[in-house]
Amino acid sequence: MKPTVFITRKLPDEIVAPLKEKFIVRMWDSEDVAVTDYVLREEIAQVDALWSMISDTIDRGMLESATNLRVISNMAVGFNNIDIEAAKEKGIIMTNTPDVLTETTADLAFGLLLATARRFNTAEKELRQGGWLSWTPMGFTGMDVHGTTLGIIGMGRIGEAVARRAKGFNMQVLYHNRNRKPEAEETYGVTFAELDDLLKRADHVVILVPFTEETKGMIGERELSLMKKTATLISVSRGGIVDESALYDALNNKTIFAAGLDVFETEPIPLRHPLLTLPNVTAVPHIGSASVETRRAMMRLNVEAIINVLEGKEPENRVV
Ligand code: NAP
Repeated sequence: MKPTVFITRKLPDEIVAPLKEKFIVRMWDSEDVAVTDYVLREEIAQVDALWSMISDTIDRGMLESATNLRVISNMAVGFNNIDIEAAKEKGIIMTNTPDVLTETTADLAFGLLLATARRFNTAEKELRQGGWLSWTPMGFTGMDVHGTTLGIIGMGRIGEAVARRAKGFNMQVLYHNRNRKPEAEETYGVTFAELDDLLKRADHVVILVPFTEETKGMIGERELSLMKKTATLISVSRGGIVDESALYDALNNKTIFAAGLDVFETEPIPLRHPLLTLPNVTAVPHIGSASVETRRAMMRLNVEAIINVLEGKEPENRVV
């Protein structure tokens, strides 16, 4: 009997073809709507391999009901949607898709920084609504990015890629990381700072740490109050690292200048969310890795990992 693979989203035929040649492949039938918890639970209980998305929450209860599951391949570098301790205890291998998305996500982070600091959203909205009446000396003015100080929280793969971009903008780069990164300091000329110090000194702050018990709520009211009134905050890694209610207050009270958000505590963010009422928020729907090439490269890694595990080989990018 061939092993069975369940894919939690509808994916292009040519991507899935190598799996279909070897295994029985079942796939959720929508590209836009996430698999239901019920179906996910039923499939996990039966299949040999699961190809999951970050929108799928895979909890201990689901994993405990798994009888044949040997591998979960998550289409993301982050894996906070999966109870990896429970997977480890059950001997289920879990893989992710790092590296191939680093540059694309860094592009988004830097683009979001430019858009937020220079107020692209307000300017475009006004143009489309007829609010552009003439060139005005101080109309639509924002904050400079070039030549300023960037603070990167989380100097990992994407953090380093953002630092490289910042150098091209003649920025001074401060970074905060759990461990100091002497190689990055030497290669990119970045300077380590304690978190509070970074928040006080940076003109723009980009968050690139993973979501963990340690980073949950890392940026709250106290941290936001340390930032410059002219500063922007760019949140690209995961929702929940920034306390959204504290962020709303800081933006509404002009404690900081603006925020650019790709990730949210609840995704999709509810349309009535208070943050979406603020003009100094630039919000995009978790599109960090969303280029055609990168998404295809991520999918190829998922396919390889599933084939390797089901054929008894060690997969690349094993998390547990
Ligand atoms: P990475 O290479 O693992 O980098 C993460 C960095 O964060 C590491 O340098 C790590 O430090 C540091 N870190 C972890 N916990 C910390 C803490 N408590 N305090 C300070 N620093 C801490 O990961 P990556 O590939 O750059 O990706 C980073 C995150 O971006 C992912 O986890 C994912 O959530 C997010 N992401 C989002 C998108 C998107 O579409 N928006 C796309 C890709 C990735 P050590 O080296 O000392 O462990």
